[in-house]
Amino acid sequence: GLNNLNAKLVLLGDMGAGKSSLVIRFVKGQFLEFQESTIGAAFFSSTVSVNNSTVKFEIWDTAGQERYHSLAPMYYRGAAAAIIVYDITSTNNNQMGLMKAILGFLLVGQYIGNPNMVMALAGNKVDLEDKRKVTAEEARLYAEENGLFFMETSAKTAVNVNDVSLVAIIVLCDN
Ligand code: GDP
Ligand code: MG
Repeated sequence: GLNNLNAKLVLLGDMGAGKSSLVIRFVKGQFLEFQESTIGAAFFSSTVSVNNSTVKFEIWDTAGQERYHSLAPMYYRGAAAAIIVYDITSTNNNQMGLMKAILGFLLVGQYIGNPNMVMALAGNKVDLEDKRKVTAEEARLYAEENGLFFMETSAKTAVNVNDVSLVAIIVLCDN
């Protein structure tokens, strides 16, 4: 049932991809051109009402450190959804390598922890279309191959960063 749901959400991905910006857009409806770097992990809470139901999100915004590995269990433990964020304007090797590592530990988390954990891939900064380096097609294919939902987002213009898209993820995961 969806009456009063708690949903832990974790955002993972390379530094600069826009994880904090997406969280702040979602929680506060704001965007900062010079978002401060996250140190360690930041925690946010936000309650969303849909009809007669509420979803209380507990959101973990991580720093994008390479040492995800050792911290992995604390991130995915009890998570309803994990969103891997990348920057569509970046071909930085680190971004791809990190994504593989994250996917690896999330799969382990699904296996040993929560088999219903929803995993999504979010290509952020879609407002910078003229600087795009990663096509939606290649990302969608990658997502399909790895069992991830796929979306393109912009923390700046709020494309796909709304209650509805996140609630949809959680509802899917609740079924
Ligand atoms: P994080 O390290 O993944 O948390 O990334 P941040 O949220 O700190 O964002 C890194 C930089 O990218 C900041 O200067 C943000 O203002 C910028 N940024 C984040 N999201 C977007 C977006 O959707 N569009 C544009 N144009 N810039 C963004
Ligand atoms: Mg950050």
